[in-house]
Amino acid sequence: MLDLFEQGMVKSNLIELTSELGELFSQYWLKIVPFDRRGNIVLPFFHLRSEGFWHLLPRTNQEGALNAASQMRSLSQLREMVIGARLDDALYNILRAREPRDLLRSVLIQTYFAPELQVLLVEQGAINYESFLYSKKLLEQHEQQVIRETLEDTYRYAARDQGFRRAVVIVYAHRCALCGIRVRTLDGHTVVTAAHIIPWSIGHDDRPANGMALCRTCHWVFDEGLLSVSLTYEILASSQLRVADNLPGYLTSLEGRGIARPVERVYWPEPESLKWHRKHIFRRN
Ligand SMILES: [Zn+2]
Repeated sequence: MLDLFEQGMVKSNLIELTSELGELFSQYWLKIVPFDRRGNIVLPFFHLRSEGFWHLLPRTNQEGALNAASQMRSLSQLREMVIGARLDDALYNILRAREPRDLLRSVLIQTYFAPELQVLLVEQGAINYESFLYSKKLLEQHEQQVIRETLEDTYRYAARDQGFRRAVVIVYAHRCALCGIRVRTLDGHTVVTAAHIIPWSIGHDDRPANGMALCRTCHWVFDEGLLSVSLTYEILASSQLRVADNLPGYLTSLEGRGIARPVERVYWPEPESLKWHRKHIFRRN
């Protein structure tokens, strides 16, 4: 939540259960809890009400059910009952200003987490903010030179990686450019990842126009050169998809279909990047 204040995403005293909040929650969770224990944002969102500063706002006719509920397991159940949470006005005002907000963040981290976790949480907070700024820059500046010269050295790897992903996933609205699927969980996990068309290690180019949102399968297939994209944005399929024991399923049916493109033309895949992919990565035969 502090991150959302930092990014200027909280415009009024109503904390909603958005996918952005869910994603940020997951990022911190993954840093500090063993891998096999999946986080559930519903638990803190619901149970913080007993802390006194966090007031759940019931939807119409849900007040009785909400007051009677002693626990809440699923996000859909919580969303059916509440619009969001309102903070005490005094706390809300504290969170709107950077200095007291940063102070509160440190106090919370130092009070509730072991020293070895404190470092990770502070670092993740910095990465979240940096990646947010980076994605904003990527979405605003389209000139390749500008990106390369001013941004490459300014941001650490994790922030660049996360910022590139954020920018690409936003412009593709969570849709896989190749197969077209879009699937999100209620807490913001998405089926797509952000793929570089020309890899970063070669092109140092994080512009959304050198990226595509791809689902896990399409990402792997694209990086392996089994699918590519033509000059006219149609999908090209390698004949290797069909060899031997392969069972490529729907992948072969994508051949000749147009890719899903961002609404804004400036973010469409750069013809030069696609050309590079066809020449250096695509296994035509
Ligand atoms: Zn896909």
